Amino acid sequence: MGQLDNKVAWVTGSGRGIGFSIAQKLASEGATIVLHDIVEENVINATREMEEAGYKAIGLVSDVTSTENVEENVKTIVEDLGSLDILVNNAGITRDGLLVRMKDEDWDLVMKINLKGSFLCTRAAGKVMMKQKSGCIVNIASVVGVMGNAGQANYSASKAGLIGLTKSSAKELAARGITVNAVAPGYIETDMTSVLPTATREAFLNQTPLRKAGTPEDVANVVAFLASPSASYITGQVIHVDGGMVM
Ligand code: NAP
Repeated sequence: MGQLDNKVAWVTGSGRGIGFSIAQKLASEGATIVLHDIVEENVINATREMEEAGYKAIGLVSDVTSTENVEENVKTIVEDLGSLDILVNNAGITRDGLLVRMKDEDWDLVMKINLKGSFLCTRAAGKVMMKQKSGCIVNIASVVGVMGNAGQANYSASKAGLIGLTKSSAKELAARGITVNAVAPGYIETDMTSVLPTATREAFLNQTPLRKAGTPEDVANVVAFLASPSASYITGQVIHVDGGMVM
């Protein structure tokens, strides 16, 4: 018996990285997982790995920035799996650069994927959850959405916006029994951070009292808790998983 038996969980951007780890953890608690990514190969590989582990999973290939794609995803999930109980807005990108040199397209793309994509998925899933009178949404923000970071004006703004979206949707959806929370990871070892220059990695670690990078599993454990009945009285919160970077 798992804490998430009979629940259906959609994790955006779960073909790899933190999203895939979240998908594995939710599945280990009994949820049926909707794996989702913009790259088909990642979805196929992730779905195969989940099935080989004995978990229940389907794969969807789509872009979180497309209203049509997102609405179609939710329709498919409800038709094929019967409900949508958990949404994890995880898909996200970086396009780092100093503010005064930042290109319009780097600002726009980061805002579109990280913030608008989360809004579109929340709106579409929220309608289903409101009818169900139950549901749980977890947004993957970042410490830099709280404390800012030189070279990441676009990314920090998108994650600060995601925290605002979290609190507003928590207030709107609470009356229907839906919780909305954010998880703000610090420095986590994934493909996203593996491209950072050594000096940037060291700067992050120097600001981390626990003096080590986090793992995708550290984030996944907290998402699984927030999605579980144990967290049913928690909403509108930002939970930091950052080795103490923000306190
Ligand atoms: P990652 O390894 O780069 O994974 C990001 C995932 O999002 C990929 O699967 C990617 O698909 C998917 N994605 C990108 N654009 C998409 C779109 N338009 N539609 C659907 N999916 C899309 O990054 P990660 O480190 O696991 O990060 C996951 C989340 O955690 C992000 O929101 C990130 O901002 C946040 N976060 C990460 C850290 C960290 O230290 N790693 C810290 C704080 C917050 P592709 O495979 O096609 O690229």
